[in-house]
Amino acid sequence: MLPVNHFELKKGELYAEEVPLARIAQQVGTPAYVYSAATLERHLRVLREAFGSERRLICYSVKANSNLSLLDMFARAGSGFDIVSGGELQRVLKAGGSPQKVVFAGVGKTRDEMAAALKAGILMFNVESAEELKALDEVGQQLGVRAPYALRVNPDVDAKTHRHISTSKASKFGVPFKEAVALYTEARAWRGVKAVGLDFHIGSQLTSLAPVRQALGRVAKLFSELQQAGFGLTHLDVGGGIGIRYKDENTPSLQQWAKAVLEPLKGLDATLVLEPGRVIVGNAAVLMTKVLYRKKQFVICDAGMNDLIRPALYEAFHEIAPVKNAARGEEDGRCGGAHL
Ligand SMILES: *Cc1c(COP(=O)(O)O)cnc(C)c1O
Repeated sequence: MLPVNHFELKKGELYAEEVPLARIAQQVGTPAYVYSAATLERHLRVLREAFGSERRLICYSVKANSNLSLLDMFARAGSGFDIVSGGELQRVLKAGGSPQKVVFAGVGKTRDEMAAALKAGILMFNVESAEELKALDEVGQQLGVRAPYALRVNPDVDAKTHRHISTSKASKFGVPFKEAVALYTEARAWRGVKAVGLDFHIGSQLTSLAPVRQALGRVAKLFSELQQAGFGLTHLDVGGGIGIRYKDENTPSLQQWAKAVLEPLKGLDATLVLEPGRVIVGNAAVLMTKVLYRKKQFVICDAGMNDLIRPALYEAFHEIAPVKNAARGEEDGRCGGAHL
C-alpha cells in the first residue's frame, strides 16, 4: 500500500481522490506527477490547528516542491514561504505569495538575490555566517534600507537523521552557537542590517522529537538573553524537518511536534515561524510511469532519476505500486502512511 493520503485501491485499481490514475495517464500521458489537493489542504489545516493562530507564521519550505500550482494553492490558503534562492522568490511572487510572509534561508545567497528580496520587502533573511551578514549589510546600505535578519544558529544537537540531510556542527549550516551573541553585538553598529529574529533548523526527515526539544531549550534561552540585552528580536524561527513515512518509519504527529515546540516557548514574547516542507507535500503525490521494456533484471520505464532523484541520490526508499493489478490480489483499501 502506498504511503500517500487520499489515494485508494478500488477493485484492484488505484484512484487519486475520486479519479482513476489510469484515466489521468490516458489524458495527459506518462510520466506524470499526480497531486492530491485534498491532502495538501488537509496538511495545512492540521498544522494550523496544532499550532494555533496567535503569533504564528507557517512558511512552506519551497525547496520541498516548487511547482507553481502548488505554490498558488498555498498562497491562496494564506501560507508564508521559506525560500533558498532568487528563483524561488520569483516563483513565490508569481504564484501570488505575500513577500511579508517570506523568509530567505540557505547558505549561498548572492548579493543580487539579497537585493531582489530586499526590494520585494520580505519578512527576514536567515543569515548563516558573519561573511554573509557583512554582504547583506553592504547590500542594505547600497539600497538605503536596513535588511531585517535572524541569525541561524547551530545548536549542535545530533538530529539522528540521514548523514546527507543532517546539519551538525561539522556541516556548513548555521553560525556556531557560542559566536551568535558576539555577531549580533558587532552588527548593532552596521547601518544596512537590523536584527529581528533568531533561527535554527537541525535537519530533515526527523523521526524523533528529542533533538528538537534539546535544540529548542538552548535556542529559547538565547532568545530571551538577546531580548534582555536590548536586541529588539520579535521572531523565533524553529525551522522544519519533521519526517514522514516512506516504508515503516515511526514519525511524530504534527500535534506532537506542536507540543514539543510550544512548551519550551511558554512565556516567551515572540512570533513563532515554522518552515515545514516534506511533511506537507511528501505524502501528497505519486509519480506515475509506464513500463516500456524488460531487460535482464531491469524494468525500463518512461520516468528517470531526473523525475525522482532521491533513490539514486542517497538510496532513499520509495514504494512502487501498479496502477491496475487485480492479479496481485492486494486487498482494496485506503493508502496512507502519514500520521495525519
Ligand atoms: C530544507 C529546509 C527546511 C524544510 O525541511 P523539511 O524537512 O522539508 O521540513 C526548512 N528550513 C530550512 C532552513 C531548510 O533547509
